[in-house]
Amino acid sequence: AHERNLPRLNVLLAGPRGFCAGVDRAIKIVEEAIRRYGAPVYVRHEIVHNRFVVESLERQGAIFVEELDEVPDDAPVVFSAHGVPKSVPAEASRRKLFYLDATCPLVSKVHREAEQHFTRGRHILLIGHAGHPEVVGTMGQLPEGTVTLIEDAAQARTAPVPGGVPLAFITQTTLSVDDTTDIVAALRERFPEIHAPAKEDICYATTNRQAAVKAIANRAELMVVVGAPNSSNSLRLVEVAERAGCPRAVMVQRGRDLDLSLAEGLATIGVTAGASAPEVLVEEVLTRLRERFTLVIEEVVVAEETITFKLPGALQTEGAR
Ligand code: SF4
Repeated sequence: AHERNLPRLNVLLAGPRGFCAGVDRAIKIVEEAIRRYGAPVYVRHEIVHNRFVVESLERQGAIFVEELDEVPDDAPVVFSAHGVPKSVPAEASRRKLFYLDATCPLVSKVHREAEQHFTRGRHILLIGHAGHPEVVGTMGQLPEGTVTLIEDAAQARTAPVPGGVPLAFITQTTLSVDDTTDIVAALRERFPEIHAPAKEDICYATTNRQAAVKAIANRAELMVVVGAPNSSNSLRLVEVAERAGCPRAVMVQRGRDLDLSLAEGLATIGVTAGASAPEVLVEEVLTRLRERFTLVIEEVVVAEETITFKLPGALQTEGAR
């Protein structure tokens, strides 16, 4: 069919969407390590939760592994943006591995908060999702048993915590802003004296992407979230869209995953992307939609982002290791 015969579809593009400064830095660390030291460069865990990113780094010479024991003694290794337990760099040092830490500086900030609370004798409640690598990394900053994981408001009300010690809470960086508000309220009700982070642990990128989805959710009949099922911040965007009044939200990893019949007969849809999803995948989704619709695109920007993070020192100077 000629384009002019295709039905019109309004697309609201959420802004900001996609890559955050921490993801951008983590990918650059792997690319720069390959450039300087040559392939292969090992990466412990998916550098960021996106298959497309992982596969494109694999083509450049990165090898992804889950644990350090899969890394040979003579190859550089990069730790993912989500952060790692202290045992990981300790083991890397013991083996004299050359490692680069791509932990997002905003995750490292939470690690330091955890250590400070611990030094001051406080028991820590970490609000987060069990099993997520960031949670594993944050809990792994401190000895076992000194951090209690709180996954929801019910646990905030009931989780056993040691008596007679001051308490503090910290959070994962990619949580639902609204859920966290409820969980914190439940904690404060139960423990009025609990210490809170000086500044939110949920990062600017998570906050802005959720706000951007909220801004378009009630105008959109369908929300397409470009992201991965293991990406915490992407999953939260699906929830936020539905709760903010969008009748349906779907996650797609790339353009070909989108079932075009979902948009059939609709006037307006929204499109966003998680912090680990590159803009080319948003472009793919738009290209896919153009197979069946004439798109009228409107970008709705709720915040401008200018933050960037420096690469680790080892990658800033010239020369080899
Ligand atoms: Fe850092 Fe936030 Fe991006 Fe995670 S989502 S890498 S904490 S900026």
